[in-house]
Amino acid sequence: MRKHSKEFLENLTPDKGFEILVDGNKRFVNRLNTDHDHLEMINETREGQFPFAVILSCMDSRTSVELIFDQGLGDLFSIRVAGNIVNEDILASLEYAVKYVGSKVLMVLGHTECGAIKSAKAGVQDGHITGLLNRIQPSISKAMLKGDHDHHFSDHVAYANVENSLEEILTRSDIVKDLFAKGQIGLIGAVYNIETGEVDFFKDLTRKNKKQKTAGMAV
Ligand SMILES: [Zn+2]
Repeated sequence: MRKHSKEFLENLTPDKGFEILVDGNKRFVNRLNTDHDHLEMINETREGQFPFAVILSCMDSRTSVELIFDQGLGDLFSIRVAGNIVNEDILASLEYAVKYVGSKVLMVLGHTECGAIKSAKAGVQDGHITGLLNRIQPSISKAMLKGDHDHHFSDHVAYANVENSLEEILTRSDIVKDLFAKGQIGLIGAVYNIETGEVDFFKDLTRKNKKQKTAGMAV
C-alpha cells in the first residue's frame, strides 16, 4: 500500500506506526538509511499529506526527526521548540495532527546534552528565554527529588521533562485524552542520544494501554 495515502493512514494502528519509527532509528544508527529521492518525495506528496506521527522535539540542530527516524517528506508532523515544552499553540498543533489529519503516534522526544535544560538549571534569565526556561523548572525539581545528582544530571532532567510534557498534554488536551482512551492513538516518550544516534523509547503508553485492555478482558 502506498505510504502517502489516506488508505494507508486509516489502516495503520498506533502500534504499527510506532514500529515504523523504531525501525527507522535502527536504520539511521546502522547507516542503512533509505535512499530518499527528493524529487520523488515531492511528487508523491504533492496531492496532500498523510503524516503517520506527530513529534514534539527540541529545536537543537542535532535532533532533526526526519533524519533520526529515516523518514521523508510527508511522513512526520514536526513540532520543534527549545526544551520540547508544551504551550497552548503546541497543544493546538498536536490536536490538529491527531484529530484532523489522523496521525496515529504522538511522541515527545527529548535529547541528551540539551542546552535549554542546562540553561534552566543555570537559572538563565533574559528576554523571552526566561518564560520558556521556567517551564523546565518542574522537571529539574523532579530529577533533584529522585536524587539524580551525578554528571548526567541534565540527561536525567531530559527524561523527566519528556514525562512532564506528556503529562501536560494528557491533562490539558481533551482531544488527545479522548483519542488515547479509545486506543486510536499511541503516546510515546523518548530521548535521543546525541553521542550514539540512538533513541531510547522509554515510555510506551501505546503498549501499556493494550496490556491494560487485555488484562481487563482476562478478568
Ligand atoms: Zn535541546
